[in-house]
Amino acid sequence: MLVENYRKILSSIPSHVRLIAVSKTHSPEKILELYHAGHRLFGENKVQELISKYQVLPKDIQWHMIGHLQSNKVKYIAPFIAMIHSVDSVKLLDVIEKEARKVNRTIPCLLEVHIAQEESKYGFLPHEVSAFFEQRQHLNYKCIEFAGLMGMATYTENSEQVRSEFSNLATLFKSIREKYFTANSNFNTLSMGMSNDYMIAIEEGSNMIRVGSLIFGERNYANNS
Ligand SMILES: *Cc1c(COP(=O)(O)O)cnc(C)c1O
Repeated sequence: MLVENYRKILSSIPSHVRLIAVSKTHSPEKILELYHAGHRLFGENKVQELISKYQVLPKDIQWHMIGHLQSNKVKYIAPFIAMIHSVDSVKLLDVIEKEARKVNRTIPCLLEVHIAQEESKYGFLPHEVSAFFEQRQHLNYKCIEFAGLMGMATYTENSEQVRSEFSNLATLFKSIREKYFTANSNFNTLSMGMSNDYMIAIEEGSNMIRVGSLIFGERNYANNS
């Protein structure tokens, strides 16, 4: 079932779009099912859960941190994390830089941009992201690879609103890439789109989608591993 869902999604997206299977709340056994089907990119939103899964699962899995990350927990994931999607402050960037340096790594990071109309979501405002690169602040970091931007649209039935939020983020992404990363192809990831809206996100330019419930089914927080 799970592998079927996965294959269905894979066959419905263009080959340049990478699929992050969001496995939060689901067991290592379920992750292994997808692993044996050939999948390697998994996303988690809690450090504790991420680490316990990392410890028991094959080491060639690429783990993506997609949830709000507290500074004091960066050190636990710095040695192995493949990408952090949820960088939402300069202070967090400073800590990631420090912890990446300690373990002699360069960590690919996406700046999370607040594009939704909802209050509760984390992220930089679009003008803060523009200012960050305009002031060349990214050049202060040697152990962070600025890999692109991430955003979440408003949770709504109104697909035109979702589309316009994704479109705004795509415009910001392209303008930053063109202004500051012409000589650096690493700034190439636009992470947007989840189970409910990934088709719209791809139409608007996403090349990395984060899909959970459509693959694994509804999350059961009572069974949280
Ligand atoms: C949970 C989560 C997802 C996946 O959500 P689904 O609706 O289950 O696909 C994607 N991105 C983030 C940041 C999440 O926390």
